Amino acid sequence: TGRVEFRDVHFAYDPNRQILKGVSFEVPAGKTVAIVGPSGAGKSTISRLLFRFYDIQQGAILIDGQDIRDVSQQSLRGAIGMVPQDTVLFNDTIAYNIRYGRVNADEEDVRKAAELAQISGFIQRLPDGYKAMVGERGLKLSGGEKQRVAIARTILKAPPILMLDEATSALDTQTEQEIQSALDLVSKGRTTLVIAHRLSTVISADEIIVLADGGIAERGTHADLLAQG
Ligand code: ADP
Ligand code: ADP
Repeated sequence: TGRVEFRDVHFAYDPNRQILKGVSFEVPAGKTVAIVGPSGAGKSTISRLLFRFYDIQQGAILIDGQDIRDVSQQSLRGAIGMVPQDTVLFNDTIAYNIRYGRVNADEEDVRKAAELAQISGFIQRLPDGYKAMVGERGLKLSGGEKQRVAIARTILKAPPILMLDEATSALDTQTEQEIQSALDLVSKGRTTLVIAHRLSTVISADEIIVLADGGIAERGTHADLLAQG
C-alpha cells in the first residue's frame, strides 16, 4: 500500500501565478519517484500539497485511490514520513527526538531505530541548544547526525509513504553519500517521493520527473534522461 497519484494537479498560491499547470504522475506502491527541476519549479510545493497544507484548484491527489481531501489530517500525517533538508530538533534527548509523536513507543524499538540509523552512541544526549543549561550532556550534532535522527524517527514510525525533500542537499559530499545509503535502506520497499535539485543524486529512482514551467518537461529513468541529453 501507499500508492500516490497526482492527477492533473493545478495549483497557485496566488491566482495571478500558476505554479502547477496540470501535473500528473504516479508513485506505485513500494517504488521511488524523484522530482527534479530548477529552484522555484514547484518541487517543495508538491510535498506541501501531499500533506494538504494547501488545497489544489483543479485535479486530485490520491493515496491508494482515495482523494486526500477525504482523509483526516491525522491519518494523512500518520501515513507520510518526512525527511526535510534541515531537521530541527527539540531541546530534549535524542531518544525523545526519535520517539517524537509516538509517546507510547517501546524503548526497545527506539533503541533499534537508533542502531539502524547509527546514532546509538548518543541517544541520551541533548542537541546543542541546551548545552549552556546542562553542561557536558549537551552535544553539538553535525548536519549528517541530525539527518540520522530524522532517519531513526522514520524507521520507528514506519510510514507507508516516505517524502525526502532535499534530505541530503545541505551536506558535504562525503556525508551526503553516507546519508544517502542510510536513506536507501529506509526507502527500500516503501513508496518514496524524492525531491532533489540534481539528477546525479537520484540515479536509482524508478522514475525521474523533470519539472519546469509548471509542467513535466521530461520523465524516465536516469538512463533515459541521460540518453535524451
Ligand atoms: P522549488 O521547491 O522547486 O524550489 P517551490 O515549490 O518552493 O519551488 O516554489 C515554487 C514557486 O512558488 C516559487 O516561485 C516560490 O516563490 C513560490 N512560492 C512558494 N511558496 C509560496 C507561498 N507560500 N506563497 C506564494 N508563493 C510561494
Ligand atoms: P509526525 O511525527 O507528526 O506524525 P513526521 O515525523 O512524518 O510526522 O513529520 C512530518 C512533519 O513535517 C509534520 O509535522 C509536518 O507538519 C512537517 N512537514 C511535512 N511536510 C512539510 C513541508 N513540505 N515543509 C515543511 N514541513 C513539512
